[in-house]
Amino acid sequence: MPERALRGGVDLGGTKIQAVVVDAEHQVLGQARRSTPGHGGPPDVVAALEDAVREAADEAGVEPGDLLGVGIGAPGAIDEATGTLARAGNLPDWRDPFPLAEELGRPLGTRVVLGNDVQVATDAEFTLGAAREFTSLLGVFWGTGVGGGIVLDGRPWLGRGAAGEIGHVVVKRHGAHCPCGRRGCMEAYAGRRAMELRARKAAEQGETTVLFKLMEDKGRDRLTSGVWSRAIERGDELATRLLDDAIGALGVAVASTCNILDVEAVIIGGGMGVRFGEPYARRIEDAMMPHLFHDDDPPVVRVAELGDLGGALGAALLLAGVPA
Ligand SMILES: [Zn+2]
Repeated sequence: MPERALRGGVDLGGTKIQAVVVDAEHQVLGQARRSTPGHGGPPDVVAALEDAVREAADEAGVEPGDLLGVGIGAPGAIDEATGTLARAGNLPDWRDPFPLAEELGRPLGTRVVLGNDVQVATDAEFTLGAAREFTSLLGVFWGTGVGGGIVLDGRPWLGRGAAGEIGHVVVKRHGAHCPCGRRGCMEAYAGRRAMELRARKAAEQGETTVLFKLMEDKGRDRLTSGVWSRAIERGDELATRLLDDAIGALGVAVASTCNILDVEAVIIGGGMGVRFGEPYARRIEDAMMPHLFHDDDPPVVRVAELGDLGGALGAALLLAGVPA
């Protein structure tokens, strides 16, 4: 196979950078992971991206310059035409438009294409993963926040560029404060970051919980999905109650969205979604039922199949239609 048929894909997240190099059949030939720089600015992130792509290419036995190109699934506002990324709140000091495609493409010696992180992960599940047999789907990425991706009639639905913000579907008017600054959003109850804030507040008010002890024992500085999972296994009451709230909020928002879109399938991914897995996908499905208008024909609800590599595989798909 000509080396030019190989593609790179990178999931650029707020905590980690995951890179893959895949062949024409989407098989992973090389992969690498880096922590996302917590401070500095866009050039520091570009250096970490370059490093990750080089390592993945090395494992695949090629030079980055031999790749057909590298797709980047990025958070924030993307201008696909100019290859710039702006307002990436989870990346250090990244507010103004920065020419990411150009600045990364130059040292790598190949073209770089940008896509929305949640949408590329949705496309990956649609093309390669849990939603292969469907033509319409809603991807729900339950992690630090809750992102959504939409595919309708076999094509991504981006709206005017900002579609899919399922985390900000309102589940309670005048409800809890959301990290977005509004109130009552689903993410204010179900996002991992918001759940942690609620847990801290409850703990400060004297409620007992093993959450923060587990966090310290694991040497973490935040309540990861693994910490939540272990607390639930131990029967921690606060963790259980907050997770119940999260499931309820997810059910309302996902069902409300399905009432509008009437998609065939809902795919639950993200750090929390994948960690809690199948039993919780069933609980979300149950929580949707009271709110589904057509409850006699609910959408299929599945856990994302591609797990941790979904975002990077989806980013590599950005190059799938590009001739060598
Ligand atoms: Zn919000």
